Amino acid sequence: MRFVSFILNNRLTVAPECLVDDPDLKAVPFCELPEFEESPFEQNFDYDEKLQQILFGKMLLLDEINLPLEIIHNHFERGYLKYNPGIRKNKYGWHCNRCGNEKDHLFASFSCFRCKSERCFYCRNCIMMGRVSMCTPLISWIGPDVKWDNVNDLVWEGELSKGQQVASDRFVEQVGKSGELLIWAVCGAGKTEVLFKGIETALKNGYRVCIATPRTDVVLELTPRLKAVFPNTCIASYYGGSEERDILAQLVISTTHQLFRFKQAFNIMIVDEVDAFPYSYDQTLQHAVLAAVKPHHFKLYLSATPSSKMKKEVPSVKIQMRFHGFPLPVPKIVWGGEWKKRLERGKLPPAFLKWLKLQASSGRRAMIFVPSVSIIEKVTELVRKHVEVKVDFVYAEDPLRKEKVEAFRKNEISILITTTILERGVTVPFLDVAIFGADHNVFSESALVQMAGRAGRKKEDHSGQVIFFHYGKSLSMIKAVKHIKEMNKEAGF
Ligand SMILES: [Zn+2]
Ligand SMILES: [Zn+2]
Repeated sequence: MRFVSFILNNRLTVAPECLVDDPDLKAVPFCELPEFEESPFEQNFDYDEKLQQILFGKMLLLDEINLPLEIIHNHFERGYLKYNPGIRKNKYGWHCNRCGNEKDHLFASFSCFRCKSERCFYCRNCIMMGRVSMCTPLISWIGPDVKWDNVNDLVWEGELSKGQQVASDRFVEQVGKSGELLIWAVCGAGKTEVLFKGIETALKNGYRVCIATPRTDVVLELTPRLKAVFPNTCIASYYGGSEERDILAQLVISTTHQLFRFKQAFNIMIVDEVDAFPYSYDQTLQHAVLAAVKPHHFKLYLSATPSSKMKKEVPSVKIQMRFHGFPLPVPKIVWGGEWKKRLERGKLPPAFLKWLKLQASSGRRAMIFVPSVSIIEKVTELVRKHVEVKVDFVYAEDPLRKEKVEAFRKNEISILITTTILERGVTVPFLDVAIFGADHNVFSESALVQMAGRAGRKKEDHSGQVIFFHYGKSLSMIKAVKHIKEMNKEAGF
């Protein structure tokens, strides 16, 4: 969109070109406007509550606000919202105000119908959230704060394990303070329950809380659980394709990517699976977390496999024991032969086949992790040839991903073949885990620990089987087994 600038009441102001009927004013892309002042705040203005709800704690494109431009601009004129440049140029190059991207190669230009520029620059890094370009301002709310209803009782009858209780108390103590804390909990320690009391305390104090996780599957698993224990709290989940994004929620469960939409919104930010791809190495996602919190905030990190950097830099509390009090299943390392070559010949390794047949007749469920999407269909096809139970596969870009994971949870699929995308977040009872080609370099120590951690998570089934099928042990495999044994030892087994 193009904007014009003009003098009004002795100060320079701006307006969308289409709202000003003056052919003498020169319309330019937003980022080429001269520096202008915010409009003074008009105390008695009868502001639009819907707009407040949409914008509070956010930074959105005009396209994302489903209200007429006249209404939006009227709030700018009364000092209730701010137009921020989407991208701006500094002496080093372009900077994206939404995702913080400053890498030259992640900006491109196109011939833009909105600002009529032949070379309208935009940020490629956050393009999946809608295009931020030279001519698209980002809108934020600077009017009155939303007041939350303080009925946020926790409705939960469960009991915490000793380890959970210690971590939970540490979190509760920190509510209202600033700083950070790492909860280092083994897979299956029950870290969600550890959050309940702290979240309740925060909500009751009128704080806004976000649980961010790199994975959509985790958002989908956490949301119903939190809605169940906080029945009176307004909770919304944010992920690509979610329908709750317009809901004004005091408790938000979001993928780290979707945090780009928020601005200074949260008093407490809980980053789940902090070591997980892609959060751990993507700088812009860390920028998103920082932009989404209020200046005075508390950050809580959760991980079963924290990086050594995090272990060193952040104060932590450890939960070594699973909530049900049984040890982590230790993976069995089984030589599977040249799995790659066999696969090319349309065959499965004999050791794997033997396990598969026993597995299928056991009545239990299994997750089989494979190292890449390229072999997933082949493996599935071969597995189906040998067993009678229902077998399916799922991968990151699978259009039916949500449905398939749901079917697996409901026991409508017995064997699910998947990539590392499901190494976290999926919890089903009576489950065994096999890693096909565990020696592949895509499987890091932490990925292997996480995948092994899928098994034995329920009290009624606390000791599932985990097998690494390999063609030559990798260092990651050895480290993963050592890691699990050490955690068990620390827990007293
Ligand atoms: Zn960007
Ligand atoms: Zn443009």
